[in-house]
Amino acid sequence: MSLQFEIAAESAGAGRSAHLTLPHGVVQTPVFMPVGTAATVKAVPQDVLERLNAEIILANTYHLYLRPGHELIRRAGGLHRFMSWERPMLTDSGGFQVFSLAKLRKISDDGVEFQSHLDGSKHFFSPEHSMEVQIALGADVMMAFDECVETPASWERTKNSMALTHAWAGRSKKYWEEHRHEVPWAREFEDKHQALFGIVQGGMYADLRKESAERLVEMDFPGYAIGGLAVGEPREVTREMIALTLEHLPKDRPRYVMGVGYPDEIEEYAKMGVDMMDCVLPTRAGRHGLLFVREDPNDRTSPVVRMNIKKLEYAEDHGPIDAGCGCMVCARYSRAYLRHLFASGEPLGATLNSIHNLSFYLETMERVRGELASV
Ligand SMILES: [Zn+2]
Repeated sequence: MSLQFEIAAESAGAGRSAHLTLPHGVVQTPVFMPVGTAATVKAVPQDVLERLNAEIILANTYHLYLRPGHELIRRAGGLHRFMSWERPMLTDSGGFQVFSLAKLRKISDDGVEFQSHLDGSKHFFSPEHSMEVQIALGADVMMAFDECVETPASWERTKNSMALTHAWAGRSKKYWEEHRHEVPWAREFEDKHQALFGIVQGGMYADLRKESAERLVEMDFPGYAIGGLAVGEPREVTREMIALTLEHLPKDRPRYVMGVGYPDEIEEYAKMGVDMMDCVLPTRAGRHGLLFVREDPNDRTSPVVRMNIKKLEYAEDHGPIDAGCGCMVCARYSRAYLRHLFASGEPLGATLNSIHNLSFYLETMERVRGELASV
């Protein structure tokens, strides 16, 4: 097995706290993974991520394949060495970006032909090629190549797309088994091979989600992801799809919901039994001057409030963003200063806002892990 997953405690609501051991270290779950799209969590240096206790980060295969190119990263000794990050990493398959960013896609059973959103150049991704790129990047966890159906999509269209995803999952796994090799810089674990997760699709249809989960479990992956959610559907539907998919995934494997969500959502899903989540929201919102705070700073379980730092009311507010937040930004800088940085277009504003938001997410998950461990 290319990873170890040991459940430490489980709540009545099926949430669990666990230790996920990967070649580059142990990750305490449930975990939030900051997104490092182009081998950088935008505007936040690696040493700061370490100080925030980010135990695993994500990078995007599609972006790194186009720029600087996976072969360059392979020659650099893999993504860990290239970006100087010694802790665990996960790469996505490139599927989501190919279907959401690239132009003029032509999909066949074999794979997908697309044009780069950067320069219009033509490329082809198949399951095998996605695996090859992810092996070159060398993250601890890689993802099977999947088709991401548009939303909304009919049952028929979703079923056909799901069948393609299953065929591609089988091909991804075969290629991974034949070509996987030890990752560079691994220290923690006797098995230094990359793990491969399968991705459950099935759109917003309960019967298809169940079928997809069952098909993937038959293929026996070290971990499972739930994809194709948080793509514009109402939050109740996201929750329902997660809940029913979890029922069909093995309890002894890590379960990852891709691309969610707001801080209250990640807390809710963690308590339902989701072990891993990622989202660009904390950094993207930070760059737009949106900060997550607690309604009552002294009660870290109180509702999440979005603070828009652009507002005039903060111009001479010399208090911290969130008086109950333990982050390095709240310890040092005022709302007035952050508002000034944002209003002046100073890059430090994006950095500080992103650090606070990431800290907010990571602290939320730390509290949830504590709650799950103490039941
Ligand atoms: Zn803070």
